[in-house]
Amino acid sequence: MKKLANYVQGRWQEGTGEGTTLYDPVLGTPLVKVCAKGVDMAAAYDHARTQAGPALRRYTYAERAGLLAQVAQVLQASRDNYYDISLQNSGTVKNDTAVDVEGSIYTLGYYAKLGSRLVDGQVHLDGDSTSLAKDNAFASQHIEVPVRGVALLINAFNFPAWGLWEKAAPALLSGVPVVVKPATATAWLTHEMVKDVIEAGILPEGSISIVCGRPEGLLDALNGLDLVSFTGSAETAATLRQHPRIQHDGVRFNAETDSVNCALLDPEATGSDLLVREVVRELTIKSGQKCTAIRRIFVPEASYDAVAKGICEKLQGITVGDPRNESVRMGSLVSQTQKKAVTEGIELLAKHCDVLFDGRTQTSMQVDGNDHACVAPMLFGTRDPDNLALVHETEVFGPVATIMPYRDIEHAYELARRGMGSLVASVYGEDTDFLAQAAVRLAESHGRVHVINSAVAKVQTGHGNAMPQSNHGGPGRAGGGQELGGLRALAFYHRLAAVQAAPEVLARLAAQ
Ligand code: NAP
Repeated sequence: MKKLANYVQGRWQEGTGEGTTLYDPVLGTPLVKVCAKGVDMAAAYDHARTQAGPALRRYTYAERAGLLAQVAQVLQASRDNYYDISLQNSGTVKNDTAVDVEGSIYTLGYYAKLGSRLVDGQVHLDGDSTSLAKDNAFASQHIEVPVRGVALLINAFNFPAWGLWEKAAPALLSGVPVVVKPATATAWLTHEMVKDVIEAGILPEGSISIVCGRPEGLLDALNGLDLVSFTGSAETAATLRQHPRIQHDGVRFNAETDSVNCALLDPEATGSDLLVREVVRELTIKSGQKCTAIRRIFVPEASYDAVAKGICEKLQGITVGDPRNESVRMGSLVSQTQKKAVTEGIELLAKHCDVLFDGRTQTSMQVDGNDHACVAPMLFGTRDPDNLALVHETEVFGPVATIMPYRDIEHAYELARRGMGSLVASVYGEDTDFLAQAAVRLAESHGRVHVINSAVAKVQTGHGNAMPQSNHGGPGRAGGGQELGGLRALAFYHRLAAVQAAPEVLARLAAQ
């Protein structure tokens, strides 16, 4: 079976061990192997820092933006291949693959456009200078300069394409070389994209490297001026945070982790169609394997039964199964491991909540055999959300959500906050005053607040879609990280320093 080679130190290197096999989660067919045994990570990072770093930094921001645009073109040319790999390795229907593949190309294109407007130069001024002495004889000016280390990108299994490029685009635009370590289960698509970009010869040698599997020294070989951008579970983030390079040496660490996101219906709402539609979309896109998916639904007590009924009716119409089957709307989870984890999560919720839609009995699977990793949607409900911590703390990473009634709007905000920090909350209603107030109240514990009334119903970008224009990340349980958000994303790949000097030095610096 084909073993995917790692690209480090300017050459493709096969791992020396047996490797890990990647499978088709629907058919069970073995696909490819990955192995990072024997890869010298210290040499890999050194090559990226010393070869690619200076070469990337010789370009202006606008020139690097031009490179991103070319990368996007290369990926566009191989779309069909990426869709095919995703079908085999992630078990996704075409629309769900598009979220990953088209999302990655769109994000690259967006940063190419943003970067093309950046003023050339190596020094970015942050605000104005501030006087530190009488008559401004001595002053302070904050500047931001690109990091000269390497950025290690550790990604989750659910977005092998977008997960790579949403991080790599701002890093490369900043002039920072990247080493990507995709999640093992779905590493093939990431590998194929990186291979195509390297073969196209657009980026300076060493700008992008890839290791598939778990190489020794992945973190040990970093130094204190390198960066790690991590996406995955809170548990893994907690482990990585204790690594001496991060805990002791100060490697900058960004984490995007679990999130128990919510949707909230206006207490005075006369209809719930917009919320119902979005909940069903979020439950089913990528089989609910989205860090941003709606997990908790808060509705006024009087609307609880009607909203639950509306969601259940729509879930009845969702066909689940083999994504090769044209009639299937929702494909598979990415692996048997995920199926086991999600099934256990469903069993746990079923013990404590009412099962309002039971995909286990109400959905007929459009798939052969029993060895597939398909799981049908589940809607749970609890009328006592105050006393069921589980629903606020447990992220079942599949097509699973729980609906809960709230007494009044303060109660709703309190319940939303019990997620202890989430990526996104969405709010549905028509009262502008309420919507604006809810946005401010939810912003304290959510990285993004998606506010929907009928005026934006047709143009809105979706509760779960992380748009490059908007912040992606959340406080607390969501990892405390920050990605995207336009040029804000570049801050992670730059160092902030205060320069204290004579006004003529600061003026010269500003002129650079
Ligand atoms: P995971 O098990 O934490 O793995 C994430 C990544 O970390 C993988 O590349 C994994 O490699 C790697 N990893 C695990 N242990 C490691 C270690 N000791 N040293 C170095 N690397 C290590 O998470 P996952 O199962 O892939 O993803 C699902 C989770 O990610 C969900 O909880 C979801 O909420 C979260 N997620 C969050 C976001 C977000 O933006 N906030 C986005 C997507 C997913 P291997 O694959 O080789 O184990």
